[in-house]
Amino acid sequence: MSATTPDHVDAIVIGAGISGLAAASELAQAGCRTIVLEKSRGIGGRMATRRVGAAVCDHGAQFFTVRTRAFGATVADAQAAGAVRPWCDGFSRLADAAAALESAGDGHARWCGTRGMTDLPKRLAAGLPENLVEIRTGVRAAAVGIVAGGVMVTLEAKEGEVPRVLGARGLILSCPVPQSLDLFAAGHALGALDGAAVETLRGIDYDPCFALMLVLDRPSQVPPPGGLQFASGPISWIGDNLQKGISTVPALTLHGSGDFSRERFDADPASVTAELESLAAAWIGGATIVDRSLQRWKFAQPRVIVPAPLVSPSATPPIACCGDAFKGPRVEGAACSGQATGRWMGRLLVDGR
Ligand SMILES: Cc1cc2nc3c(=O)[nH]c(=O)nc-3n(C[C@H](O)[C@H](O)[C@H](O)COP(=O)(O)OP(=O)(O)OC[C@H]3O[C@@H](n4cnc5c(N)ncnc54)[C@H](O)[C@@H]3O)c2cc1C
Repeated sequence: MSATTPDHVDAIVIGAGISGLAAASELAQAGCRTIVLEKSRGIGGRMATRRVGAAVCDHGAQFFTVRTRAFGATVADAQAAGAVRPWCDGFSRLADAAAALESAGDGHARWCGTRGMTDLPKRLAAGLPENLVEIRTGVRAAAVGIVAGGVMVTLEAKEGEVPRVLGARGLILSCPVPQSLDLFAAGHALGALDGAAVETLRGIDYDPCFALMLVLDRPSQVPPPGGLQFASGPISWIGDNLQKGISTVPALTLHGSGDFSRERFDADPASVTAELESLAAAWIGGATIVDRSLQRWKFAQPRVIVPAPLVSPSATPPIACCGDAFKGPRVEGAACSGQATGRWMGRLLVDGR
């Protein structure tokens, strides 16, 4: 089936997580007309907040740090708008589930969204000028192709529908890197890309993560300020969404470690849920679990970080990959990578350098 005539913009950004939105913000500041494509119904990517029964739970990123000036400005704006706040200056740490608690607090602020972690990306999105940036949610990019004068992004179509195509002079891919490589492959673009850059991208992989959200009938045994970090063992984190202040009823978020989650990735969800609940029994205390939800993140956290803020597998047309696998990990690293990539692309599209 042939594709329809493409819409043309200056830039397309694939992914409306923190890095894609930060990139779109920089592109708008350069005056570039930009479309952001997001396959999910909502924005935020791995900064994800979900309602489970009567509770509200962050099930991806739990908190973020602010070490760089560039990200500090974004956070200061979001704080002024009431979207984010400091949570604490550290969490109780355990060497493993059986070890004694080490005291919380190292003097560095851990931040969170006021009503959930998605508040920060939502604030970034709200600040984007409507005349320059359009965010299309529920739209999955299916393939990326290179054509004369630019890029072509084919959108996933429902059965029987003609696939729509968007055209742009430049492209930023902010999804986890294996997904970006799949998009190049689907559009037969890999052969036209810089081989060394593609090799670098192929070297990036991610740990998976099971996130189990539990709604309790009474407060948990997680000590203040509501987070436990485990240095080793099957659980890496237990967060208390009531103490954090985003849920009005007691609710925990448990994260399986990378090894635990990889070994059981295709296991029966009910057995993974039962295992995590049993491992966390001491922190659930005597509470009864009144609701539960298990989420499986395939690409939770990168195992390899490329030292540059972006990798560009094509200079003409300009294409770049960004996100938390570049420059620095986690929320802050992703935001800084997105900012740097949007600035780079804006300069190329506006000044040609
Ligand atoms: C369980 C878990 C716990 C974490 N804990 C922390 C923490 O406590 N602190 C911290 O700082 N970081 C934490 N992180 C990491 C942090 O969430 C990420 O580093 C950061 O959110 C990554 O942002 P990003 O924009 O690079 O990618 P993402 O947030 O993954 O955004 C990419 C977006 O691209 C979209 N997308 C993908 N493919 C397509 C397509 N084909 N078409 C359209 N859209 C597409 C996705 O839906 C997604 O919204 C955690 C992550 C997980 C999963």
